Amino acid sequence: MQMNKSIEFFNTIPAKHCPECGEHIIEHAESNLMECDRCLSKRED
Ligand SMILES: [Zn+2]
Repeated sequence: MQMNKSIEFFNTIPAKHCPECGEHIIEHAESNLMECDRCLSKRED
């Protein structure tokens, strides 16, 4: 069934969300960033 494929897709790719603003985070291969780019740039101010 196509629905089962969709569920499997989401189960294999856990979504990350920024704890600051709730923005969906695209996981970076070379870093362990827990926050989205926007919040990270704010912190550097
Ligand atoms: Zn954020």
